Amino acid sequence: MNGCVIPHTPIAVDFWKVRDGPQMIHFLTHFHGDHISGLTSTWNRPIYCSKLTKKLLVQKRGVKSELIRTLQIGCAEIVFLDNVQQENMVVTALDANHCPGAVMFLMEGYFGTILHTGDFRFKPEMLTETTLANRSGKVDVLYMDNTYCSPRCKFPTREQATTEIIKVIKSHPTHDIIIAMRNLGKEELLVKIAKECQEWKYVPHKFYQTLEILEAPNVFNCDNRDLRIQIVPFYTISKRFVEKVNKTRPTIVIMPTVLYFGIDARPYENIDNVYIVPYSDHSSYSELREFVAFLRPGQIIPIVKATSRSPFEMSVADRADMSRFSDLTGEKFNESVNVPPSVQAFMENRNITAALGKNRLFRLRKRQNRARGL
Ligand SMILES: [Zn+2]
Repeated sequence: MNGCVIPHTPIAVDFWKVRDGPQMIHFLTHFHGDHISGLTSTWNRPIYCSKLTKKLLVQKRGVKSELIRTLQIGCAEIVFLDNVQQENMVVTALDANHCPGAVMFLMEGYFGTILHTGDFRFKPEMLTETTLANRSGKVDVLYMDNTYCSPRCKFPTREQATTEIIKVIKSHPTHDIIIAMRNLGKEELLVKIAKECQEWKYVPHKFYQTLEILEAPNVFNCDNRDLRIQIVPFYTISKRFVEKVNKTRPTIVIMPTVLYFGIDARPYENIDNVYIVPYSDHSSYSELREFVAFLRPGQIIPIVKATSRSPFEMSVADRADMSRFSDLTGEKFNESVNVPPSVQAFMENRNITAALGKNRLFRLRKRQNRARGL
């Protein structure tokens, strides 16, 4: 699980383990298994996420619609951090360029400025769009997607990978084509292939349901198994599977993934008719460098922990080593954060009047109302 609770705050991002513990305010970056683990239909606290993630949560996970508050991409919104509306933060959701509905959160409040990328694929346009364009040197803490944060992880842009995949398909006009997919996120690629090759694709029923929720263009079919281009779940692919399908018809398998980049494993390399094309929804190492070089954050916290394992249980602990960015981080980060009393009371689930005392609360409210011009 890749979630966290931000220290000195009640803000939980992609974190669903605590139900009866301290009070929190929950944010969801995107609808991928490792970010929603523990979030079930019995969840009973408010959640902030994008409009598309809300649709997926309600229709695929059964989360109650009335609990979900949607954030508009690029719009700064106020979220209160206590029960008495004394302390708030400003949150802006930004397109994470990862999978449908995926967002990053820029949060500004008593704790400073925090950017949580969730999973993201960097693109230069992110730095010229208004929200981040003037934030260089102004982000105190960057929670960053470090999935491929290793100099060994070099791969092309998604546009280049898409061109490569289309080239492979066009060079096999009489073959059946099987494309292996892990989960949500490569719909854009599939649509581009369909349009470029002018062919419909067969997708399993479960994928089709998701495509319907996403209102994807009508280039998919879940009934006709005779279509030349078919989508199958990633785990289906094995040497035996490829040999079996080739006994019926000449078939190639395309695996759009960078999962095996930077580790010493090549599970599909020696299988005939299998093409691994480096298509990634996460940033490459050089893209992460570019992102950090622009933002110059005070501190970087990796989202994927050093204890996480890559395929075949191989350690990728070095990818959580953020000291590799020490030449790009800004002024030393000041870790001391004063938690406002009303937020402290909220986190501890205490009554704010008891926490502050009636007179102090009255004075605090008066002072804040004056500051707001009320
Ligand atoms: Zn993801």
